[in-house]
Amino acid sequence: MHLHATYNYSLVFLSCLIAVSASYAALDLTGRVSAAKAFKNRIVWLLCGALLIGTGIWSMHFVGMLAVTLSEPITYHMNWIVVSYIVAIAASAIALQAVSVARLSLKRHLSGALLLGTGIAAMHYSGMAAMHVQIRYDPFWFALSVLIAMAASYVALAFAFHFRSANSWISVLYKLGGGVLMGAAIAGMHYTGMIAAHFEMNAHSEVAGVGMNQEMLAYFVAASTFVAMAIAIAVSILGHRLSSKDHALYEHNKWYISLYENHTDGIVTIDTKGVIVDVNPAFVNMTGRSAEYFLHQPLIGIIGLFVEEQRGKASLWLIYALKDAQVKRLESAINHVSGHSVNLSAMSVPVTIDDEVKGIYFIFRDITEEKKSKEQIQHLAYHDELTSLPNRRLVNLMLDKAIQRSESSADNFAVLVIDIDRFKLINDLLGHAYGDQFLLQVTDRLRQAAVGMNVTIGRMGGDEFAVICHGDPIESAAVRAAERIIEAVQIPYRLKDNDFYVSASVGIALYPEHGDSVEDLLKKADSAMYDVKRNGKNGYCFYSEQLDENLLGKLELESDLRKAIERNELMLHYQPQINAEQNRIIGVEALLRWTHPDKGLVPPGQFITVAEEAGIIGDIGAWVLREACRQMKQWQTQYGWQVPVSVNLSSQQLLDDRLVDLVAAVLRETELDPAYLELEITESIMMDASRASSILQKLMEMGIRFSLDDFGTGYSSLSYLRMFPIERLKIDRTFVQEITTNEDDRAIVETIISMAHHLKMNVIAEGVETKEQLQLLLDNGCDEIQGYYYSKPLAAEELVRYVADNLDERPMNDSLG
Ligand code: C2E
Ligand code: CA
Ligand code: CA
Repeated sequence: MHLHATYNYSLVFLSCLIAVSASYAALDLTGRVSAAKAFKNRIVWLLCGALLIGTGIWSMHFVGMLAVTLSEPITYHMNWIVVSYIVAIAASAIALQAVSVARLSLKRHLSGALLLGTGIAAMHYSGMAAMHVQIRYDPFWFALSVLIAMAASYVALAFAFHFRSANSWISVLYKLGGGVLMGAAIAGMHYTGMIAAHFEMNAHSEVAGVGMNQEMLAYFVAASTFVAMAIAIAVSILGHRLSSKDHALYEHNKWYISLYENHTDGIVTIDTKGVIVDVNPAFVNMTGRSAEYFLHQPLIGIIGLFVEEQRGKASLWLIYALKDAQVKRLESAINHVSGHSVNLSAMSVPVTIDDEVKGIYFIFRDITEEKKSKEQIQHLAYHDELTSLPNRRLVNLMLDKAIQRSESSADNFAVLVIDIDRFKLINDLLGHAYGDQFLLQVTDRLRQAAVGMNVTIGRMGGDEFAVICHGDPIESAAVRAAERIIEAVQIPYRLKDNDFYVSASVGIALYPEHGDSVEDLLKKADSAMYDVKRNGKNGYCFYSEQLDENLLGKLELESDLRKAIERNELMLHYQPQINAEQNRIIGVEALLRWTHPDKGLVPPGQFITVAEEAGIIGDIGAWVLREACRQMKQWQTQYGWQVPVSVNLSSQQLLDDRLVDLVAAVLRETELDPAYLELEITESIMMDASRASSILQKLMEMGIRFSLDDFGTGYSSLSYLRMFPIERLKIDRTFVQEITTNEDDRAIVETIISMAHHLKMNVIAEGVETKEQLQLLLDNGCDEIQGYYYSKPLAAEELVRYVADNLDERPMNDSLG
């Protein structure tokens, strides 16, 4: 008998509502299943989720079924109901599992949809089987229902996968939409399945079953489903909170692990028994040993890492850190496996959990670089940047210490202040880069000179150095140091392809004779050094009280000298130069004389250096040149003399470009033939050979001749001097004075004479005082003589008288040959 089915529409609506709610719950839950990292949590979530969704789907189905009223009352088989319920839960579990993976592959998606769809269909038709009625299915609608189940499952899985981890409001909306869609699909499947069914009255329909008021049952199932779902959602939200707490904790933990692993400080974790439980990569790097080398070793194993002399200190630190469980610091150094040492700043930090110490972190920071730069800064503060010598500050400190020490031990010492003569000139001429290079060379010389002596060298600034010297007796130690320094400094310096000649002026002050404080000693040494400078430089001098008086005198002299030209206090004396063989005059040297209003005659040796230092040598030199030329021109017209006048040039004049113009102007004014002017220069022109040589060249082109004064006292080689247009060498009087007594000097003079002749230069000997000296010079082929033996420098009119009285005047006229 065919049964007619009618629908209770409020129950149909209710069933749809259940489908949608269950779908939404499913979407929401999948997120939690996949978010649960711990395996145990996952299983719980999966089971809860499957139970919830399964119940939802099943209940929808059941309510949907109950919505159908057949024309005859129907009873249900309990077994099939249970089976369908289990199938619903199983299918849901499969679906949840399918989407909880990291990546949903197409294969997985399809097979998941197939399983879920089959599950839903199986659930539906097994539920239908529970009806105690004969059902015939229309194959088309049946197939369609199964297809709908699968399609719905496919879409549902896609939604679930997509929204599982999103938590924003938008995603809640999407989830709702997804839920409606999925719910509709499930409901659609159900009702399509229902269309497929044709109910027929079973002959044995009275077989025992659960007879129930159909509608009441439906409401009861729906209500309990909603309650179950509500509880599940509530638990889910709560669980979500719990799980996010869980997650935060997990994340937090990761942060700390990352801090530990990536920290640039080395970290060693030990437990309360002092066993190493962990080391981080930084510590591995720092020591060059593997983590395994440390792990599970007693802490004592670390002590071996420390540099030997620090091990005692380090073990104490470790032991106290362990015992006291307090932050304890240590600065130390360890040996890296590859041999170098690493400076460390270490700290122990107790690990306290719930007021209980569980272990200790030892944190090691590599401060090698930091330490190095600290030391560098320290070094910079107390050392000169250029030469690395102790600077003024450190010299002061060392002097202070030396004073303190001598107070207790009577260990006297000397302070030497060294100034490099002519440094300023080199610096001005060549520039600072070469000036620096020069100072470095000077520093090297000083260091070498100091070898084997008990001295400390410092640089006070510029070209000023200081030496603290110890020794007994202190005077002779200081003299020895000064002499070695002077000797070392005056060897020529090779700079910019030229040799430069400098010298050192050394002032010495003794402790405690000359002063008992640092400032006093330095001041006294300074004033002794200035005295050396004023007396022609290149030498040393001990401080004496007289020096300070002299210094005042020098300052006075300087101001007087400035006025000397105007006041007409300068005059020239002339010393004849004589050809000894022919007994005739071959020239005169002009020598400056200064008659000071109070002091009387001041020797040029004293005031020429003062004039150079004061920068007035140019004016004085110009006056000398003019006066000498004027005088010679007058002698020429008055007496018909035809000999040159020699004028001394200071090296400062030779570096002045205006010299050429000055000479030209003077010759023009005085109308002296340039052939009768000879300029005497010294080896110090080598100071800046290229500049000097171009000036000399121009003067030579004007017809002026040059002689090299004081030859033998400098350091230039003869062949080098050949580069200059020099006609005559003047053997220094210090050699001449010794030639009769000193073998060496005689040999030097002989060599100079023969070499000069070889180079086609004339030689004149100055300072000849005795007949023996004269004879020796003549024997060696030097017949040009200047010296007291013939005449002292004479005033102009005295010279005229001298020549008339003593010399053969006639050949003088052709002296220029
Ligand atoms: P110098 O150029 O070597 O001059 C020769 C010096 O030797 C002169 O000293 C002269 O008096 C001295 N003398 C000459 N014969 C003898 C002798 O037989 N025995 C001894 N013991 N001495 C002798 P003076 O006049 O005192 O000049 C000293 C220095 O002053 C000169 O040395 C020269 O370097 C410098 N000087 C003198 N006049 C001038 C000048 O006009 N300009 C420059 N720039 N320097 C000058
Ligand atoms: Ca001279
Ligand atoms: Ca001379």
